[in-house]
Amino acid sequence: MKIAAVLLASAALTLIAPGGVNAQTAAARADTVDPSLPTQLPRTAIPHHYAITFTPHAQRLTFDGKVGIDLDVIKATRELVLNAADLKITTATLRTVAGGTSLTARVSIDGDAQTATFIFPRSITRGAYHLDLTYSGKINTQANGLFALDYKNKESKAARSLFTQFEAADARRFVPSFDEPDYKATFDLIARVPANEMAVSNMPAAATRNIGGLKEVRFETTPMMSSYLLFFASGDFERVTKRAAGREVGIVTSRGNGAKAQFALNAEAQILPYYNDYFGTPYPLPKLDNVGGPGQSQFFGAMENWGAIFTFDYAILDDPAITTEAGRQDIFVVEAHEMAHQWFGDLVTMAWWDDLWLNEGFASWMETKATQHFHPDWEPDIDRVGSREGAMGLDSLNSTHPVVQQVRTVEQANQAFDSIAYSKGESVISMLEDFAGPDVWRDGIRRYIAAHKYQNSRTTDLWSAVESAGARGLTTVATDFTTQPGIPLITVGSSQCVNGGTAVTLTQAQFSADRKQQVAARPLAWHVPVKASAGGATVQVVTAGPTTQLLVPGCGVLLINPGQYGYYRTLYTPQQEAALAARFPQLAGMDQYGLISNALALSLAGYQPMQPGLDLLSAMPPHGSAKVVQRAVGRWDDLYDRMEGDKAAQAAIAGRVTRSLGPRLRELGFQPKPGEPAGDATLRPTLIATLGKYRDPQVMTEATRLFAAWLKDPNAIPGSLKSTWLGVIARNADAATWDSIHSRAEATTGTVERSSLYQLLGRSKDEALARRALELALTSEPGKTVSAGLITAVAGQHPRLGIDFVLAHLSQVNQLIDISGRSSFMQRLAGASRDAALIPVLENYAKANLAESDRKPIQRAVDRIRFESSQLPRIRSETAAWLAAHPVG
Ligand SMILES: [Zn+2]
Repeated sequence: MKIAAVLLASAALTLIAPGGVNAQTAAARADTVDPSLPTQLPRTAIPHHYAITFTPHAQRLTFDGKVGIDLDVIKATRELVLNAADLKITTATLRTVAGGTSLTARVSIDGDAQTATFIFPRSITRGAYHLDLTYSGKINTQANGLFALDYKNKESKAARSLFTQFEAADARRFVPSFDEPDYKATFDLIARVPANEMAVSNMPAAATRNIGGLKEVRFETTPMMSSYLLFFASGDFERVTKRAAGREVGIVTSRGNGAKAQFALNAEAQILPYYNDYFGTPYPLPKLDNVGGPGQSQFFGAMENWGAIFTFDYAILDDPAITTEAGRQDIFVVEAHEMAHQWFGDLVTMAWWDDLWLNEGFASWMETKATQHFHPDWEPDIDRVGSREGAMGLDSLNSTHPVVQQVRTVEQANQAFDSIAYSKGESVISMLEDFAGPDVWRDGIRRYIAAHKYQNSRTTDLWSAVESAGARGLTTVATDFTTQPGIPLITVGSSQCVNGGTAVTLTQAQFSADRKQQVAARPLAWHVPVKASAGGATVQVVTAGPTTQLLVPGCGVLLINPGQYGYYRTLYTPQQEAALAARFPQLAGMDQYGLISNALALSLAGYQPMQPGLDLLSAMPPHGSAKVVQRAVGRWDDLYDRMEGDKAAQAAIAGRVTRSLGPRLRELGFQPKPGEPAGDATLRPTLIATLGKYRDPQVMTEATRLFAAWLKDPNAIPGSLKSTWLGVIARNADAATWDSIHSRAEATTGTVERSSLYQLLGRSKDEALARRALELALTSEPGKTVSAGLITAVAGQHPRLGIDFVLAHLSQVNQLIDISGRSSFMQRLAGASRDAALIPVLENYAKANLAESDRKPIQRAVDRIRFESSQLPRIRSETAAWLAAHPVG
């Protein structure tokens, strides 16, 4: 799909000064509406300011509100249509800004369209108006609109805090509004909350007063922004702050968690000046908070509300009782992601959800870049390759879609938050930055931000900015990779040494997991920047036709895609692959992991036998980069699961991993060491978990010992390894063990630790215990936002059991999931399955429960299972043969 032609630098609402008063006439503003932009509202009016006053009634789970909206009517009309969902509107009046009598409107609600139509007694002419509404709404118990999270406070008493979550289309559950991203406006928010609570919004409080026993907090006016970025929270909070780059940065948490927030606060303070410099436009708001919430969602972990990021506790609190080293690193990464959105998303916003990747691909790329800058020892460049592999997993299936995609319904907007938008987006940007050069790319980004700040933009605006900064030819490459789905396949011909260089022919086609024949007959074509090295300098060409001749300096081992920036698969000759396996320990970590993943993907999809993939995987040196070892172990474990039922093959894999990496685990030790390298701290739990899964005797003995000690003393296992050691026990639990973990979960008050323990109850291999976990999820005990994660954990071990249970209790389970996450939940439950018998179950579920336009997540699950199950017999027999031919020791 190609997007409609773009009005360069003149997206909707460009004429309104940020934060200022709209001085434009209605006639002038009508010209700023981009008619090619999708919308679900008639283009008859444009808002420019909202003044919202509201009172939440937390215990009753309702709120009352009133809003005054300054808007321009741009086309004469008898009615105004705004978005509203689950709101009861009691009064509606309209008056001209110039004065004159008010018109009272009749209100008509359309629940399916999520709109409120205000019908006036006579036609309204073009001009500036003020619309006043009074209304009431619901406080939800999942993260949509205004929602409540319940938890046990520091004194172990039941407590409730309120938060908002509006992306993609849930501001309309809080205030009747023009709830689409290109309707940018300024917002005044006044909240009346209990006097002992703290209230937080995008802007600092301007004034506070007591009114009828409540505290009324008036926040400063926001700059021009999209409705999905508005935020409010109130509760028994504490706030820790720091100064950074002339701004106040803060972390807001439930009272008592201030110390656990220091790691996130330091990250925030460290990242802000770095981004100010990178983007060339300083962070524009007076403060930046990140607000922690005690709960979870099936849809998101954190949200970039402008000036007031929201993050669930597990991704913001560094809790010595439970946070792993990987979890701690994630706190930094999540902070880096949401802060990047303060520019890419908040200051400059995609005009419509088709371009969601401009937000998400960019923030994903930037989180890796910032992490590489501050924490190169965490090896984020290998995570970048992992991100590419995650994207390719989806992008190799028939049901994939282009990065720039077509979104027409609210549900499609929710579904757009997938690994194509995030991870393919990130991978394509990495490739383009490498193609442009980092300085030219950054210069282009600075131009883009400066040209579109406080406005909306489209994908092509970004390409124009980077080309104008000097990246010649970038638009051609970028357009191919963002408007077409799928993955290029570069086939390498046999190479020859000619005058000190390696001569080789590259042939371009398309890689597909489930449609090899069809794409071989009619492949898509891309301009692909291909890099190659052969012991001398690295060369780059942009392949345009079906074949490209290449002369690579040097006659060493030929490596295509060194650095792994390219978004394509590479099919080598067997000789070239063997030469790479022989040189493997000398390659950079990211190339090692890139080669393993590339070769295995080609083997699993049947482009080559399993043997080259397994040869490269087994070439991984056990003392190589911690992160590559971690990921290589993951690949062995994936093969282990595919060999289910073949005891000899599973024993061979377990023996191979144990023999190769057992010694490394013994060197690392079973306990964390003070001041050890981050790589050691993240590799240890991976090795414990995997060797525990293979029932390595030493690991099992230690797990049993630690579990017994933990039952007596909850601090007997170091927090950073608690979920790992307990995970080994939970997987092999009997009923008595399961009961002990259960009673400990019930007694735990720390929100992150508590939900981790409940999830462990879903990890048992034993089917009877898995059923007990599912039954437990339907009770009120785990907590409203914890239960869905428990069901997901069960489905990780027993996909069919989990899915059958959910189908049997669908309406109850739906109450446990945010509205935005519902249609993707079933796809997640099916994620671990290779069972073709599940296909009709999933298809029937989709037909019965989802509109035809909203079935994409299920189609992806079906495509994946169909592909996996069709290849499984071949993969199993070839893998078993390889294992038998390569005995260990
Ligand atoms: Zn994001």
